[in-house]
Amino acid sequence: MIEIDEARSFVLEHLTPLESERVALDEGLRCVLSEPIVATEPVPGFRNSSMDGYAVRATDTTGGPVHLRVVGTVLAGDVPTRQLAAGEAIRIMTGAPIPEGADAVCMIEETTDNPADRTVLISRVLEEGQFVRFPGDDVAVGQLLLDTGSVMTGARIGVLASQGLSTVSVHRRPRVGVLSTGDELSGSGGNLAKGKIRDVNRPMLLALLRDSGFTAVDLGIAGDDIDAITALLRRGVDECDAVIATGGVSVGDVDFVKSVLADICEGTARWMQVAMRPGKPFAYGTTGRGPTPIFGLPGNPVSTRVSFEMFVRPALRRLAGYRILERTTVNMVLDCPMPRKPDGKLHLVHVDSRMHTDGRLHIESASRHGSHLLSAVASANALAMVPDGDGPEPGDTVRAMLLTDESNY
Ligand code: AMP
Ligand code: MG
Repeated sequence: MIEIDEARSFVLEHLTPLESERVALDEGLRCVLSEPIVATEPVPGFRNSSMDGYAVRATDTTGGPVHLRVVGTVLAGDVPTRQLAAGEAIRIMTGAPIPEGADAVCMIEETTDNPADRTVLISRVLEEGQFVRFPGDDVAVGQLLLDTGSVMTGARIGVLASQGLSTVSVHRRPRVGVLSTGDELSGSGGNLAKGKIRDVNRPMLLALLRDSGFTAVDLGIAGDDIDAITALLRRGVDECDAVIATGGVSVGDVDFVKSVLADICEGTARWMQVAMRPGKPFAYGTTGRGPTPIFGLPGNPVSTRVSFEMFVRPALRRLAGYRILERTTVNMVLDCPMPRKPDGKLHLVHVDSRMHTDGRLHIESASRHGSHLLSAVASANALAMVPDGDGPEPGDTVRAMLLTDESNY
């Protein structure tokens, strides 16, 4: 058996980010920037009001309340035509340009209109610049807005839009092919023939891939047949940047994926027994110039899920250009039993964790062991990493990987 770290290093060793391409801003969501973005436009672009109210000269309000003459209105999108003179106020809406001569805004709640004589009572003494947004407050020309390697989020797309950018250069989003293998698998709904089971891994992986920001490509199902598996894997390699197959990597009589993978990957493939549970058997190799990685994951759905988290997702993040490959791990307080026996393996246990009033995440329940028990783990939000030994006791601290974490951009 080899340690998880060794298996992961072997996976990552030859992978580098995919080439860059220019995409429309909204297509870049969750892609990784391959160019720095330097501001060419100040934001705000001009002095404008941060309140609905009256633009005034701050000195006119000294010793107030004061009555000022209302000489016009300026709305967002207008260009003010009139300069403001002493003793005057101009009604102004949020985002509208501050007229020449004005240097402060009094918010509408602190004014009283008097339409009869076209005056307004300013009830408050204002300081120069009050409720005025100045050019470059947010973004100054020449400022580095986003560096190479930044992950495109909604807010960052907003920042780029504020510069008038409509396209951005990013590492290509990995296209990842998924196939299931096994004579027992049925890919369609409806009645199941005797001895058949429903294909769980393919829909699950396709969704996990999309959830991680990758493009998922459904390659279908191959039976336990060397030619069929070879054909689907080759198609995957032709069409995709990475391929995931499930099933057929154990020691069973018809576990052909590992040998097909060795065949396709010419010398780079390795069939590993990783010191983890679930997910011990794992096959991996690369082919072609890319190179294109091929992952052979064990077929039990919980094993597939765990192996995806431990090996596939980090590798695909490297292809996508991410700098942080791993999910966030945190120490959690164990509130429930989590029995295990020494077996030389790291146990990866799906758990439900919640923030408690002590400000710490607590593990409230842990799934039973059983790599076929997918429904039992489906609600988990973390994967506890339980080191070899007799297992932690309630009250102990356990390290766990957050499965829903999005902060590691
Ligand atoms: P294998 O890794 O091919 O030895 O399969 C291990 C177990 O996982 C067997 O019970 C398979 O029937 C089951 N299995 C394999 N592939 C899938 C799949 N795509 N969906 C659901 N169960 C599967
Ligand atoms: Mg099988």
